[in-house]
Amino acid sequence: MIIRVRLHGRGGQAMKTAGRVVGTAAFLEGFRAQDSPMYGPERRGAPVASFLRISDEEIAERGYVWSPDIIAIADPTLIGDPRANVLDGARQSTAAFVNIPTLDGIRVGDLTRLTNYDVTRAAIRLLGRAVLSSGVAGAVVKLLPISRQSLEEAVKIEMEDIGLKEREIDLNVKLALECFEGTPRVPVEPLPTEELQQFRAVELGWQPPEVSIGLIRNVGNGVEKMTGSWRVSRPVIDYSKCTRCGVCFDYCPEAAITLAGPDNRPVIDYDHCKGCLICYNECPVKGAITVEEEGLAEKVASGGVV
Ligand code: SF4
Ligand code: SF4
Repeated sequence: MIIRVRLHGRGGQAMKTAGRVVGTAAFLEGFRAQDSPMYGPERRGAPVASFLRISDEEIAERGYVWSPDIIAIADPTLIGDPRANVLDGARQSTAAFVNIPTLDGIRVGDLTRLTNYDVTRAAIRLLGRAVLSSGVAGAVVKLLPISRQSLEEAVKIEMEDIGLKEREIDLNVKLALECFEGTPRVPVEPLPTEELQQFRAVELGWQPPEVSIGLIRNVGNGVEKMTGSWRVSRPVIDYSKCTRCGVCFDYCPEAAITLAGPDNRPVIDYDHCKGCLICYNECPVKGAITVEEEGLAEKVASGGVV
């Protein structure tokens, strides 16, 4: 029996690594495992997905997971984003994990097997930033027939593989185990392989050009792309410390900072700031730019979460 998992997140949230951790944990547990990311939209903040199959028999499928038994959603704003297509191929019995503090008021299509944990908050507390791979992996492992021990070992292997130091590896293990413990288990019902629709070609549904085309086709219409919806963290300027040096203005790749007023103070346009934090890294004055986790309440209020 193959269990098929699709992980959805945004570029920078490390969903590819999350898939690797779960795949390695499954392998350590004695399963066959296959994990792969979807290449193409490797941009910080853009919707990304990765795929995972675990099985006690040979896995003769490749590529996109069309009929997920589990969907993991690292960023709840993706639920209503047509580019992310998180519900693609889901059936009512599909289990879904959502990285969110509470499921109150949250609807994921008509799925009923929902579970959650606030991985972002745990990652910021333990790692100091919203890198979610180990936490989401811990939550997904909770839904699979994989032990805590295999999860712990897999996090160590994968974090060492990407070059983390011992202390960072330990913190990632803590994050994974916290999310494993904190995620309520929901039943997972794998779809028998013979019920899968085989040999499906990629079907691209119609979308209006302003959504589907990644090009700026006319001078000046870049403003229509609300790249601010990609953010997971936002830079905040403290004008009492800012020296108006303009470095952040020079470095912002989205031209989301303008210099305004008689004192040329930098002003961030949050509709277009994608949260890359280059301004934060380049600012020469300690404390002039700080980083805040993007407000979930604000996203809900703006209709980003349905
Ligand atoms: S780089 Fe820092 S100090 Fe310079 S203008 Fe920007 S916020 Fe102010
Ligand atoms: S985080 Fe800073 S550099 Fe990046 S897009 Fe936003 S304002 Fe520009």
